[in-house]
Amino acid sequence: MSIVGSTGSIGRQAVEVVCAEPDRFRVVALGAMRSAGVLAQQAALLRPEVVALGDKDAALELAGLLPPGVELLAGPEALPVLAERGEVVLNAVVGFAGLPVTLAALSSGRRLALANKESLVAGAPVVQAARAALGAEILPVDSEHCAIHQCLGERRHTGPQWSDATGPRAGADVSRLLLTASGGPFRGRSRAELAGAGVQDALAHPTWQMGPKITVDSSTLMNKGLEVIEAHELFGVAYDRIEVVVHPQSVIHSMVEFSDGATLAQLSLPDMRLPIGYALAYPDRIGVPFGTIDWTRLRRLDFERPDLETFSCLALAYAAGRTGASAPATLNAANEVAVGAFLSGRIGWPDIAAVVEEALAAVPVVPLQSVEDVLAVDAAARQAAESALWARRN
Ligand code: MG
Repeated sequence: MSIVGSTGSIGRQAVEVVCAEPDRFRVVALGAMRSAGVLAQQAALLRPEVVALGDKDAALELAGLLPPGVELLAGPEALPVLAERGEVVLNAVVGFAGLPVTLAALSSGRRLALANKESLVAGAPVVQAARAALGAEILPVDSEHCAIHQCLGERRHTGPQWSDATGPRAGADVSRLLLTASGGPFRGRSRAELAGAGVQDALAHPTWQMGPKITVDSSTLMNKGLEVIEAHELFGVAYDRIEVVVHPQSVIHSMVEFSDGATLAQLSLPDMRLPIGYALAYPDRIGVPFGTIDWTRLRRLDFERPDLETFSCLALAYAAGRTGASAPATLNAANEVAVGAFLSGRIGWPDIAAVVEEALAAVPVVPLQSVEDVLAVDAAARQAAESALWARRN
């Protein structure tokens, strides 16, 4: 397998999964953007055939740290090259920068273990075309979509609607997908209470340990909004049949309701090593659990409706998903700019949604037929978001 984005939160946990089952997994390629030190340690541990760093200066540093016999590639174009090595490619790059890796993995007929939801959300028409390549398959490494895949998965070979080689698609007997959300650190707070919310408040997630970008996205519920679009694209379910349920314990990772009223749910501790192991080993399951539920201590499972007024990013994402074409790409790019500005102290927490909304209003919706189309919309949306940031400063 190849692990692209191996030094981030998901990548490091993937290395733990691999090390827990050394007889099952063999890593042939590792790649990251710029963390030379961590990548050198991983290379010494896993002895891949090839490693790559997107940043050329960091690659120079890495050259002196690698064990002998490991090939080194450098530059942004090196990461998609890794996606053509190994039968399974884990894309754990953060944000829109993961799009070339997603496309390279699918075009070369690999199984894509997708932790980079942004590439599917922003580039959906182009990614779906690449997904039609012979042998290409997407296994979600997002706990919610992994849960839905598990609830649907046993049925994939049982009828014509399940014969799609790219993975389980929900048929007419699926009534609803119920995506659970922890609610993030600001659950239950009002818009007024969150006017002065700071970076450290947003990064204090109650149940999940994750990287800073996705943790801020969890605080705004934009992460759940991106996941609604991701679920629509992965499973082919209409937006009217995808609902978000706030579930603060993060034990139920999502549910599927069927036409006869039956609901299947997947439960486990909130630990990303389960979805990572599921996607890498599918259709087998790894033999080492990273924690199991202690029923004697689990007292209750609570559910709430999301507050779409305070967490308007979720409503913006539903609207962009329903609009389709380039709207999700604009949503994603503007959000990446706004979250970056929030993390660096340039704007307040409520401004994130406002910047995204302004960018969606400013950037025209166009069809996406090529990677170039996706890149052009991404650039236009980033510019519109920067303009919205600039307007706030003056
Ligand atoms: Mg998730």
